[in-house]
Formats: sequence, structure tokens, C-alpha cells
Amino acid sequence: MKLATKIDEIRAQSHAVHRSGAGLGLVPTMGALHEGHLSLVRAARAKSDVVAVSIFVNPTQFGPNEDFTRYPRNLESDCALLEREGVDVVFAPSAEEMYPKAAATWVNVERLSDRLCGKSRPGHFRGVATVVAKLFNIVEPDLAFFGQKDAAQVAVINRMVRDLNMPVQIEVCPIVRETDGLALSSRNAYLNPDERKMALVLHASLQRAQKVFSDGERDASKISSEAKKAFVWQPGARLDYLEIVNPDDLEPVPTINKRSLVAVAAFIGSTRLIDNILLEP
Ligand code: AMP
Repeated sequence: MKLATKIDEIRAQSHAVHRSGAGLGLVPTMGALHEGHLSLVRAARAKSDVVAVSIFVNPTQFGPNEDFTRYPRNLESDCALLEREGVDVVFAPSAEEMYPKAAATWVNVERLSDRLCGKSRPGHFRGVATVVAKLFNIVEPDLAFFGQKDAAQVAVINRMVRDLNMPVQIEVCPIVRETDGLALSSRNAYLNPDERKMALVLHASLQRAQKVFSDGERDASKISSEAKKAFVWQPGARLDYLEIVNPDDLEPVPTINKRSLVAVAAFIGSTRLIDNILLEP
């Protein structure tokens, strides 16, 4: 497995892959890898001849009072995991390498970027779209793999790729969970044992939504108020949002008559976690 830290190095690798006629898959990550990330890597391994994984804690997608500086960083152990998965190349640039001084160009996917996490994290999706566009331009993958865990991110990236005619196919992989239902996240490492128990409230709220939907309820406001009850019983958790939206444009849906996304975000102590499910009529 090769480790590239410079744009020129990863470009040389990618050009060699394309010259050989092989297909290149990219898995963009911020590192602190867990089984969720590795499921993307395995999907990439199954669908592409050559697999590249990027590890970059992207400063532009963090707000001023967010966890950018304390976000977990373990390049060495991440690389060991990726080597075991048969990854061909890791791209782990510095912030200086990715953002030249006085960089002035942003990718802003309008409307979608102001929904769900974009509402509580202004500028977050502008940072995400910009760095993913840059990674696509640098690595030039044929396929790129993202997790359904970040459902709004998937909507933003899909829209960007479509609107800007980017020659890459987006593959979305299912959410990987702990056995008790908690969605895997690098931020779970912040939770103390009490908070780890409290964090189950996100999954519990989604299960309530699924239950009332399966029982026949189609009114989105009724489903979401039922789901939010999980938070009343868990006062240690602070709900940020629980919304039922169209998974493609992230606009709220009043009635569930086609596939709809139930997305939840909550603070457990100072840790902000997200989760979601799709309701399929
Ligand atoms: P991150 O390192 O948090 O930026 O995540 C990198 C990629 O891994 C994103 O596409 C995430 O959606 C995906 N991912 C993170 N957690 C999970 C999970 N529990 N299951 C599936 N994919 C995930």
C-alpha cells in the first residue's frame, strides 16, 4: 500500500491507473477509521480494480466552536487497517496542501446545504462539497463511496455531481451499527460510559418512527412527534432536529407516500451525533 501526502504524488498514481485501463474507486474519510468506513472500503474493493482512501480532517467543514482540533487522528493505525483491507493507496494531505493560501473558490449546493445538519452547522456542507469536489479533481475516481449514515451529505454530493457534470459514479453504502443499534461514528469515542448508554436514544427514536409507520401511520408530523417522545424519556440528550424529508432534495414531506428519510441529530453531553432511517411505503 502506498501513502501519498502530496497532490502530485496521488495524481501520478491515478494517471498510471487510468493509463492501464483499470477502474479507480475512492473512499473519502476523515480517518479514525471504524467498521463503517471499512464497509465502504470493502464495497470499493469489490467494485474497483484499484482502491484509494483519502484521510483528511477537513477544516472548512467545521464551525468555529466545533471539534476540529480535538477530532481523533491516528494515521498509523488507520493505515494498518487499510493495508489489511487490500487498499492500494492512501491519500493523506496536510491542510496546507489542500488549501493554498488565499483560496477563494467554494462549491455551494444551494438550498440542500441549508437543510438538516446545514441548518445547525452553517457552512458545513459548503466545506464538504468543496473538499469532495477537490478530491474528485485530484484523484479522478471512476467510483466514489459514501455512507448512508450521512444522508444529507449523500444528497448534497449527488446534486453537486449531477449539476456540475462530474464524471464519477456515487455509490452509497448502508449504515453499520453496534449490536445495540448505535450507528458507528468516529465521534462515539468522545462518549463516557453513561453517555454511551444515552446515545441509544437516537436509534430508539428512529425505531419508534419505523414502528408507527409500519402500523400504518402516514402523517409525517404524527410520526415525528411519536419519534421525539424517545427524547422526553432521555433528558440527558438534547435533540437538535428530527425531521422527515425527501432524501433527494431534503425538503420536508407532509405525508409519506414515497421513500422518505427520517433524520435525527442530538447532543449527548457535548458530543453531537446523527442517525437516520428510510421509510419505504
Ligand atoms: P467520516 O470519516 O466521518 O467523514 O466518514 C467517511 C465516510 O464513512 C462517509 O461517507 C460516512 O458516511 C461513512 N460512514 C461513517 N460512519 C458510517 C457508518 N456507521 N456506516 C456506514 N458508513 C459510515
